[in-house]
Amino acid sequence: MTVTVRFAPSPTGHIHIGNARTALFNWLFARKNGGRFILRFDDTDRERSKKEFADGIAVDLDWLGIDPDAVYRQSERMARYDEVKADLIARGLLYPCYESPDELELKRRRQRMRNQPPIYDRAALELTQEDRERLEAEGRRPHWRFLLPGHGENSGASERHVTWEDLCKGPLSVDLASLSDPVLVREDGSFLYTLPSIIDDMDMGVTHVIRGEDHVTNTGVQVAIFRALGGTVPAFGHHNLLTDVHGEGLSKRKGALSVEALRAKGLEPQAVDVVAVRIGTSEAIEPIRALDDLAEGFDLSATSRSAARFDEADLAAVNARIVRDLPFEAVKDRMETLGVPAKPEIWAALSGNLDTFADVADWWKVVTGPVERLAAVDDEPFLAMAAELLPDEPYDAGTWKSWTGALAKESGRKGRALFLPLRLALTGREHGPELAGLLPLIGREQAHARLKPV
Ligand code: GLU
Repeated sequence: MTVTVRFAPSPTGHIHIGNARTALFNWLFARKNGGRFILRFDDTDRERSKKEFADGIAVDLDWLGIDPDAVYRQSERMARYDEVKADLIARGLLYPCYESPDELELKRRRQRMRNQPPIYDRAALELTQEDRERLEAEGRRPHWRFLLPGHGENSGASERHVTWEDLCKGPLSVDLASLSDPVLVREDGSFLYTLPSIIDDMDMGVTHVIRGEDHVTNTGVQVAIFRALGGTVPAFGHHNLLTDVHGEGLSKRKGALSVEALRAKGLEPQAVDVVAVRIGTSEAIEPIRALDDLAEGFDLSATSRSAARFDEADLAAVNARIVRDLPFEAVKDRMETLGVPAKPEIWAALSGNLDTFADVADWWKVVTGPVERLAAVDDEPFLAMAAELLPDEPYDAGTWKSWTGALAKESGRKGRALFLPLRLALTGREHGPELAGLLPLIGREQAHARLKPV
C-alpha cells in the first residue's frame, strides 16, 4: 500500500515553527518512502476556522518546500460524517447526553472528593426514551459520546488497553478505562475533530499518522473508534513538542514564532526547515541546500523524548551560513528584486557578511554611497596619504593588497591602525565584507572622495 500521510491543521491561526515541524516530519516521511502527502484542513469549528488562515497555511507550506499531493477540507465532507454518526447511533456506540457543563463539573468535583477518577459515569445510558423526550422538551439539546470499549457491543476487555508500536517513541499504551467516553458531537450538532479525523484517515487511505505527543491519549480513543468502524488502524508516531527558550509551549496565538513572521524576517526556508526538523534530535543543525537533503537521513525514532527548545539564535546562525553559501545562480533574481545589480562579482564581494539575504541591499547601499564618513581627527593625514596612493583603475581583487602594502610602507602603520581607519572612511562601518572585494565595487573616484573629502 502506498505510504500516505497527512498534515491536518485547524485553520484557526497562523502555523508556528512547531506545526511546521509536524508538517515537515510528514513530508520527509512521505519523501523517504515514496509516499503521498495530504494537506487536510480540520475546519469543523465553524466559528474559529477562517479561510484566510487556511490560505496562509498553504502559502507557508509552499514556502517551506512542501507540495501536497491533495488538499481536503473537512467542512466539505459533512454529509459523510453525518452518515457515520447515524451508523454509530444505530449501533448504540454513540449516545446522547444532556448534562450541562456545570452539571458535569459538579459530578467531577464529587468524584474527586471520593478519591475517584473524574471519569464520565455514563448516567446518560440509563435514560429512557421518555426521559430524553422530557429533557428535550425542557429545551436541552444532546451532545453525543462514543461508548469506549467495556460496555455493550463494545465490551471486549482486551479492547480496553490500546497498545501500539509508536514510530517515534516505541511501545505505547493507553488504558481506555481511565478515560471518559469522548464527546464526538457538540450540543449544536458540530463535530469535534476526533471522528471526522478518523473517517478521513480511513477514506483517504492514510497509512501513517505523525503528530505531536499531545495527541497520545487521542490515539487511544481514536484506535477504539477505528476498530468500531471496521477501518484499518494506521501506524502512529508522536514526536516531541517544541518549546520556546524558556521551556514554554508554543501556541498559534504567539505570532512571533509563526512561519509567516519568520518569513517576514527574511529568513531562508531551508534554515527554518533544518531547525524545525533537527532540533531535539541528535543530528547537527547544518546548512542544507534544499528540503530534500533532509529526507534521506530522516528518522522519526531520532526525535528525542524530551521537549526540544527552539532558540531563534540557532535559526539566525544557520540562516547566515546558508545565505553566505548560496551560489550566484540561486540569488541573481533575488538580487535584482532588491535593486542590486545581478553580477557574480557583486555577490562574491558582499555575500560573506550577510545574516539575512536582505542585508545584501544594505551593503550595496554602502558600495554606492553616500556613506557617513567616520574618521578620527588623528587619522586625517593618514587618510589623505591613502587617497594619494590610491592606484589607477582598473581595479581587481589584488588592488587592495598592493595599495595597503604601499600604504603600510609609507605610513609605518600596520594591523588595526592601518586597516580600521580605511574601513571606517570607506564604508562608514566598523565591520563588514572584505575590503579587497568592496574596493573594486566602490571604484577609484568614490574611494578617493570618501578618503579625502574636498
Ligand atoms: N487538527 C488537529 C490538530 O491540529 C490534527 C491532529 C492530527 O494530526 O490528527 O491538532
